[in-house]
Parts: sequence; structure tokens; C-alpha cells
Amino acid sequence: MPEAGPNIAEADRLAALHSYDVLDTEQEEAFDEIAALAAQLTGSPIALVSFTDAERQWFKARHGMDASEVRRDHAFSAHAIRDPSRPFVVPDAAADKRFSDNPCVIGPHSIRAYLGVPLVTPEGHAIGTLCVADRVPRPGYKDHVGPLKTLARAVSANLELRRSHRRSRGIALTDPLTGLANRRAVMSALSDQMARANGVAVVLIDLDYFKEVNDGHGHAIGDRLLYEVGARLRQATRQGDIAARLGGDEFVLLLMGVNDRAVAVEVAERITDVLAKPMDIEGGRLRVSATLGVAVAPADADTPDLILRAADEALIAAKGRGRGTIGYANRRDVLRVQRSAAIFRAFDIDYGENGVVHGAQPYLQPIVPLRAGAAGEVEPIAFEVLTRWSAPGLGPIRPDELFAVIGPERASVLSHYVRGQAMDAFAALRRSGRTRARLAINLSMGEVLQPDIGTQIEAQVARAGLSMEAVEIEINEEILLDRVSDVTLQQLVSLQERGARLILDDFGIANSGPVQLLRMKIDGVKLDKQFVQGLGNDPRAEAIVNGAITLAHSLGLDIVAEGVETDNQREALIALGCDAAQGYLFSRPMPCAALDQYLAGSERQKKGLLF
Ligand code: C2E
Ligand code: CA
Ligand code: CA
Repeated sequence: MPEAGPNIAEADRLAALHSYDVLDTEQEEAFDEIAALAAQLTGSPIALVSFTDAERQWFKARHGMDASEVRRDHAFSAHAIRDPSRPFVVPDAAADKRFSDNPCVIGPHSIRAYLGVPLVTPEGHAIGTLCVADRVPRPGYKDHVGPLKTLARAVSANLELRRSHRRSRGIALTDPLTGLANRRAVMSALSDQMARANGVAVVLIDLDYFKEVNDGHGHAIGDRLLYEVGARLRQATRQGDIAARLGGDEFVLLLMGVNDRAVAVEVAERITDVLAKPMDIEGGRLRVSATLGVAVAPADADTPDLILRAADEALIAAKGRGRGTIGYANRRDVLRVQRSAAIFRAFDIDYGENGVVHGAQPYLQPIVPLRAGAAGEVEPIAFEVLTRWSAPGLGPIRPDELFAVIGPERASVLSHYVRGQAMDAFAALRRSGRTRARLAINLSMGEVLQPDIGTQIEAQVARAGLSMEAVEIEINEEILLDRVSDVTLQQLVSLQERGARLILDDFGIANSGPVQLLRMKIDGVKLDKQFVQGLGNDPRAEAIVNGAITLAHSLGLDIVAEGVETDNQREALIALGCDAAQGYLFSRPMPCAALDQYLAGSERQKKGLLF
């Protein structure tokens, strides 16, 4: 493992080089003229304005030289920059053992003599050289140092001018680590391109296991790896296309004018290959692979934001298939992304600072005891609060979709608001003596993780004038997993101690197994609808339902079956000894305002008036 010092110095030097944004730019007359003058003043066939990148020596101006770069470990100039304070002279390379077997000497370039003056930044970094070279030995080369230094200062002044000009525009558009464009540059290039209705293909690149490299080899190596990835992407990029680092280990290529998926596919495959080649970094050999997501505008999406998200969806899908694969956006995903974005925006407009979510309201669904004979006792034992939300233009959005789109924080706000509404309405019904049922509330993981969830619920219960005995709390198995601390669970336990019942929801879905039941003393379980709905057509479902009921009862727990839609399911559950049920067969979820009527109905049913 190399020492950190030189690595950091080299990283700073590279950052300084990139701040000039000169690498891989077009030839420019100003630099060409200086090179030509250097050749003439020193009587050399070759003169270069050259920059030392991580792995290569790149030539901004070249006089008498065809190649646009050479490998850094072959470059004379890479030696020259080691001491920024003095020129570097090699009067006869063949007689100098540092260079006698150098490919630039014995290969087609046939260099025999070299004179280079470091290009030094105001901060003292040598980023490259102005150099001349000859194909014959030049014992007197050092006599030309004076004029070469003067010309090198002209190069430096020119570079400085460019940099300050760029900076004075007030926008940083490059990523300092890799020298690639940054996210801001990408957004602005995408906007320009899409505003002109030109096609553009987006190739998102996410390195696999980069975190492991960082953790295992240290950040200096991680940075070098990112740099190398950047360099490879830059080299693989056509003129006019943009390679950028979006942040972390995420890169992107914008293929300007490409609206043909086949072309984008080809590039993506090439990138995968280019990145898969081993990287020699600090004496070690590293391999990376990358997972890619490809989207093409305008076919997949027509705004910068959406096209990036479409590519991101494609990337996520690819990751699902395995690292190192390439995913392609499709219309369905894009429509889903668009819908999610619309829901997200609408939700943000809908919810106010005061925690009110205007488009939301609680629906309640009764849970009824299961008894043979049916017609007698149908008074619900509980009502479950289910959130309903709708927005203008979007219509009603189901909670599963909504919660996934808005994320746990907003979902908690929503759930809190709806719970409060439901408690207020339900308390009024209880006070009027219309029902003795409990109110069942769902708590998601995000909500349970709030450190004050216990106090929140207590406050809501108190404000509504309900008693804690009137409350049931449904949590799922995920919450009983080890990731949730005992301190967190204790909040639920303290509500339970005050009279609330704790119910394990979606029983049987998670594969955590019954051992999770031991983490907390729960009062009942709810069997998920997928098993209930398999009753009668899948013997395995019957076995699972039977097993769940037996397990629950042997632990002294009540069991409620969810999603009961048919009489057959109901009868099968009764035969298996299930305690209670919930489902469309008994009632769909209904708004609070409909509860009065429903209760009147169940009152009549109880008295046998409906039969
Ligand atoms: P869940 O807790 O499993 O709720 C039962 C779901 O089954 C509800 O879906 C309900 O409408 C649906 N359902 C009831 N009877 C039947 C039936 O006979 N057939 C079928 N096919 N479905 C039936 P919903 O309302 O879409 O809610 C979905 C999930 O969203 C709920 O699943 C619950 O986990 C969550 N959720 C809903 N509202 C809230 C809330 O306010 N807070 C929290 N944290 N979660 C909520
Ligand atoms: Ca539930
Ligand atoms: Ca469920």
C-alpha cells in the first residue's frame, strides 16, 4: 500500500490540471504558434505543449509529432514535472539509462534528446511542460533553456486567462475529481438539446461494488479508480458527446443527436467492455464492472428530468437482474415514472404546513366475528382505518402506490392526519353509543421509527376523547425484525399497557418465521388476504391458513382473516376455527359519513330485520 502523502499530492495536482479544463480540447492557434516558435528557436524538429494526466501525457499543441498522447510511464515530460522549479534536459537518451530502453526512444518516435520546462500553476503544481525534442543527440540543449522558459510563461499566462475567464462566468461545470462535466453541466446540456427537439441518448453508469473498493483499499485508491473510470469514459466519448460524473460512483454519457436505440445499445455495450478492463492503480490491479441504464429521447421521455429518471429506472431494473448488466427504458416504466412524478407533485401541493392533507380522508372497514349460522351476531368488533387520497386530474390513488411514491416521511404525515380524522369521527360514534367496536390503525415502519410515535398517538387519542382501550394497532412483521430497536418497540408496549391491543398484520407474508412473535407480547394476528383468497382453489393455502390458525390459538392469540370475498371462503374459515374476518363480503371500506347508516344496518341485521 503506497503512502498517503504522494497520492494526495498527485490528486491535488490532477485537480489543478482539471481546473483548466484543457484536456481533450481542440487544437488552438495560440498554443500551436508557441510550439512552432519553440521548435524554431531551439532548432528542434519536435515541440509540444503537453499535460500530464493520471495515465497519459496529452498534447495540446504538437509540432512535428503525429501522436496526440503517449502513455505517462513512457513520457519524458512525466519526469520533467517531478521538479516544478527547474527544466529537465536529456542530451542523449540512448546514453541515459532512465530512457535507453524507453519505447519513445527505441520505437517509431525515435527520440534522442529532450528539453522540457514545467508549466507551473500559481499554486505551484506542475501540470505539464513546454518541451522540445530531437532525433539526434543534443549536447548543447541546455543553452536553449532561457527562450523556452519565456515561451512556457506565455503558455501559463494563456492557461490562466482561460481559467479565470471560466471562473468569472460564475459557474462550475466540471467535477474536480475526474475533470468530467458535472451534474449541472449535464442538466444544462440536456435542456439545450431537448429544447431544440434534438434527440439525445442517456447512458447512466453505476459502478458495482465501489463501496467495497473504497472500504477495502482506502479513499485515495477509490478516487484514483473514479479518475480512471472518468478517463476511460472520456476516451470512449465522441466529439460533441458529454461524459459526466453525477456524483459518488455514478456517471453518465449524453450521446448528442442519438435518437436511435440501437446506437445507444452499441455504445452501452462498448462502455461495459471498456470499464471491464483491469485498472493498474498504485501498483495494484483492480477490476470494476458497471451496471448501465439507457434511455433515449424523445422516444422515452421529453424533459431532462424525466429522461434521467427513465434511465435511472432502467438502471434499477438492470440491478435487479444482476450487476454488470444493461437495462433499457421502456414506455411502461416511463409512464409509471411520469405518474409517480405527477402524484408526488400533487401530494406536495396538497399538504399544508399545519399537517392537513386536503385530498385525504379515512375510510373504515368493519371486522366482524365469524360464527356458524351467520345471521345472528354481526356487530363489528373493530373498524380498520384505511387512507384514501385523491387529487384533481389524478383521481383516487390507492395507499400502497401512494405510500411508495411519496416516501416514508410524507407517508407518516398523511397517516397521522388521517388517523386523527378517523379518531375524531369514531369517538363521536362511540359516545353516542352506536358502537362498542375498536378502531384499528395501521402503523408503517417509517412511523414506528419516529421516536415520539407513542406520544403522538396518545395525544391524538386524548384529543379525540377516545380511550386507549378503543384502539388497536396493526404492525407488520418487518417491525418485529432485529433492525427495530427495543427502545422503539417499547413505545408500542407502553400504549399496550394503557389498554391498546397490538395486532400483527399481514401474518404469514414475511419469511421471518414465528420466532419474531417472541419479541413482543402481541394480542392477535391478521392473516393476509392472499392466503384467504387461495381457500377453495389451492390446497396449500388451506394448509397455511389452518397452520396459522392453530399457531395463533396455541399462543393464545385471536386471528382475523382479511380479504374475505365469498361465502365459501367464509365457511372454510369458520370450519377451520378462525375468530373474525374482514372483507368485501361483509363491507367495503367506507367514508366516516357512511358509518352511521352501516351501523344502523348491522343493528337491524342483528335483530334479524334484514333476513
Ligand atoms: P392492509 O393493512 O393489509 O389493509 C387491507 C387491505 O385490503 C386494504 O387495502 C383493503 O382495502 C383491502 N381489502 C379489504 N377487504 C378486501 C377484500 O375483500 N378483497 C380485496 N382484494 N382487498 C380487500 P388498501 O386500503 O388499498 O390499503 C393497502 C395497504 O396500505 C394496507 O394494507 C395498509 O398496509 C396500508 N395502509 C392503508 N392506510 C394506511 C394508513 O393510514 N396508515 C398506514 N401506515 N398504512 C395504511
Ligand atoms: Ca392492516
Ligand atoms: Ca394485508
